[in-house]
Amino acid sequence: MKDWFTIEEIDSNTFAISEYQHWEQTHCYLLNGETSSLLIDTGLGVANMKEIVASLTKNPIQVVTTHVHWDHIGGHRYFQNIAVHKEEESWLTEKFPVPLAGVKSNLLHKPCDFPVGFDSEQYEIFQGQPSRILADGDMIHLGSRLIKVIHTPGHSPGHLCFYEAETGYLFTGDLVYTGKLDAFYPTTNPVDFMHSIKKIKALHPQKIFPGHFELSPDPAIIEAIDQAFTELATQNKLKQGNGIFKYEQFSLHL
Ligand SMILES: [Zn+2]
Ligand SMILES: [Zn+2]
Repeated sequence: MKDWFTIEEIDSNTFAISEYQHWEQTHCYLLNGETSSLLIDTGLGVANMKEIVASLTKNPIQVVTTHVHWDHIGGHRYFQNIAVHKEEESWLTEKFPVPLAGVKSNLLHKPCDFPVGFDSEQYEIFQGQPSRILADGDMIHLGSRLIKVIHTPGHSPGHLCFYEAETGYLFTGDLVYTGKLDAFYPTTNPVDFMHSIKKIKALHPQKIFPGHFELSPDPAIIEAIDQAFTELATQNKLKQGNGIFKYEQFSLHL
């Protein structure tokens, strides 16, 4: 049986940890600094991510959450230091906004060879206390590396991207990927989404690393998404309930 996680080296201190066997094709990212490491998201939570991370660094791990959706916090239970934006703190500590049955139907949406030992009957949504609350502009120090927190609401109210100026890497979570970008359900906001796209466009990242699907699409996709949103706004179509708009590399679900 194939390993559940796929590790890809972005550079000698940066790794993608992906779950390609699941239809969501989630990506988490490990950034090794001199004194500590940053783990961006923890995936579906169907296999032990801590073991994989331990094979890539002996540093203490800080987990940051791009947003509190089940497919980004699944492995949070394996780690101690978890950070999240204020707007989604209560989703971790009090009440996840989607019922377990809804999460499971997503998890089991397409046939999948889950890892040995995984039992979907036992699957639970992570709930726990964050050790740090993040805000726009916060800096995360990893010794030799410095990562900036960018608040990018729209897909969810506390959605965060993480930017490293030195390398030009931008970790985009569910704000940017090659697939269907979701802004159609109650906790999303298409107008905020558009503004967040404009915000990250202004950073001119060298490379982007999304939460799903293609690992490192051309950053020009940000410009294309911006154009799509701007056009819909101009036509007064940027409203929830308007359906799916398809473009070459992505679609927008409003
Ligand atoms: Zn999401
Ligand atoms: Zn996602």
